[in-house]
Amino acid sequence: APAESTRKTFDADGIALPTGSFVNGQRRDGDGEALLVHRPSDGRLIASMPGARQALIDEAVAAAALAFRTSGWREASPRHRGAVMRRWADLVEAHGEELARLEAVTTTRVIAETRVRDVPVTAELLRFYGECADKFDGALYPTASSVWSIGVPEPYGVVGAISPWNVPMVLSTAKFAPAIAAGNAVVLKPSELTPFTAVRLAELAIEAGLPPGLFNVVVGTGPEAGEPLVRHPEVACVSFTGSTVTGRRIMAAAAEAGPKPVTLELGGKSPQIVFADVPDRERLADMVAAGTSRNGGQLCYCGSRLIVHESLANQLLEDVAARLKQAKAGATWDERTTLAPIVSSRQLDRVDDIVRRGAAAGAEIRLGGTRIETHGGAFYAPTIALAGQDNPLQQEEVFGPVLSVQTFREPEEAFSLAAHDTYGLAAGIHTQNITRALDAARRIEAGMVWINTYGRSTDIGTPFGGFKRSGFGKDFGAAAYLKYTRLKNVWIDM
Ligand code: NAD
Repeated sequence: APAESTRKTFDADGIALPTGSFVNGQRRDGDGEALLVHRPSDGRLIASMPGARQALIDEAVAAAALAFRTSGWREASPRHRGAVMRRWADLVEAHGEELARLEAVTTTRVIAETRVRDVPVTAELLRFYGECADKFDGALYPTASSVWSIGVPEPYGVVGAISPWNVPMVLSTAKFAPAIAAGNAVVLKPSELTPFTAVRLAELAIEAGLPPGLFNVVVGTGPEAGEPLVRHPEVACVSFTGSTVTGRRIMAAAAEAGPKPVTLELGGKSPQIVFADVPDRERLADMVAAGTSRNGGQLCYCGSRLIVHESLANQLLEDVAARLKQAKAGATWDERTTLAPIVSSRQLDRVDDIVRRGAAAGAEIRLGGTRIETHGGAFYAPTIALAGQDNPLQQEEVFGPVLSVQTFREPEEAFSLAAHDTYGLAAGIHTQNITRALDAARRIEAGMVWINTYGRSTDIGTPFGGFKRSGFGKDFGAAAYLKYTRLKNVWIDM
C-alpha cells in the first residue's frame, strides 16, 4: 500500500457517523419511521435510524425556547457571544480533517473541495457572524424633544431552519450561525439525505460553550420533521433553502400556522450570456465547464443556460466539451475525483428524465446524455444540449451536470432568452464592453450578476439569494444577520 503521505484516498468505511438527532445538548434517537441513509458514491447503506417526528420536534422546540429564555445567551454581552462563536470556529478547524471526511463520504461533496472549501467556509461563517454580534447598533429616531424613541434590534426567539443536501455543512451553517450570533435559539432540520455534519457541528458548539438547547438538530424527512417544525407555534421565524416547490409549501404552512416570517433560498436556472467580444475564451471555457460539472451540477446557482453569440458557439462548445470529457467520475473520498455523484438514484432518474424529455422535444444532445455506470453510485455524464426556449431543458431546473445552450445574433435577443419565467437566482455576462455589461447587470432580473466571472460566492460577506421564484431574503453577508433580528421601537417620555 502507498505511504499515507502519497495516498489519494482514505478508508471511507472507517469513519464514525454521528447518527440520530441532537436535542438539548445530547444525541437523541428519533421517534419516527426508519430513515435509510445511503452514500452517493456507491449507493451503500451507511445508516438506518429512526427519524425525528412530531414528539421529538416538540421536544427540540421546547428545549430551544427554554434555552432562549433562561440560558442567558440572549442577555450576554455581544462580545461574549462572539467569543463563543470564534471558539466554535476554532474547533471546526481543529476537527477539520474529520469534518472534511465526514462531509465527503456521506454527501456529493468531493474531498478535494470539503478540505479547502466547505470546512474553512464553515469556520469563517461562525467567525463572521460572531463578529457581527457587536457591530450592529440600534437607532434613535427624530421625535419631539420631550420624548426619545429608540430602535432596538432583538432576536426572534426560536428560529426554524431547513437546509438541502447539496452543500449541506456550508448551507446549514449559513443559517444557524447568524441566527445564533444574533441571540436566537435554533432548531435545524438538515436534509435527511445528508444529516451528519450538522450533528457534529452541534456537538462542537457545546464544547465551545454554547448553552445546551440553543442549537438543536432534528434529523427526519420533510413531511415528518420539517413541516411540524414550520408549524410549531413557538417557532417564530423560518429560514429555508431548497426547491421552489417545497418553498411554496413551507410558506403556506407558515402562513396557516402563523403567519410568521419566512425567508426562502430556492431553485435556479441561471443564464450566462456570452457576447462576441468575450475577454478570454480559454478562461470562459474553464468557467462554463466547471459551472456545469462542479458538485455534479448540483449547485443552485450553476450557470446552466448558456446563451452564446453564434459566431463563438461552435468553438466554445468544443472547448467546453473537451474539458467536460476530462471530468473524472469517482468516489467523493478520492482526491482525483472531479465529477461528483448525483445524490441519489431517484435524483439520477429525474436528471435522465429531463434530458430524455428534452431530446424528445427536439433538443440536440452534443455531449453526454447518459448515465455513467461506476462504483454502484449514481453518476451522470456531463451533458451539452442545444435546446429551444420552450424545451424542458431550458425551463426546468435539472440539478445535474447538464448545460442547455442557445445562440443569438443581436444583443436584444440574448436578453429576451435570458429572462426566465420562473427563476431569477443568478446570471453571468461575458463581454469587454463595460456599457453593455452594466446595462445587462441592471436589466437582468436576478439576485446575483457576475460579469466576466461566474459563481463567485466564496466571499462570505456578500449577500447571496434570488429574485422571482428563486426566493427572497439573503443568506451570507451582514444581511443574513439582520434577517434574524426584529426591530423594537421603545418610547421614553421625559
Ligand atoms: P427540497 O426542497 O427537496 O428539500 C429541502 C429541505 O426541505 C430538506 O431538508 C427536506 O427534507 C425539507 N422538506 C421537504 N418537504 C418539506 C415540507 N413539506 N416541509 C418542510 N420541510 C420540507 O430540496 P433539495 O432537493 O434538498 O435541494 C435541492 C434544491 O435546493 C434545488 O432546487 C436547489 O436549487 C435548491 N437550492 C437553493 C439554494 C439557494 O441558495 N437558492 C442553495 C442550494 C440549493
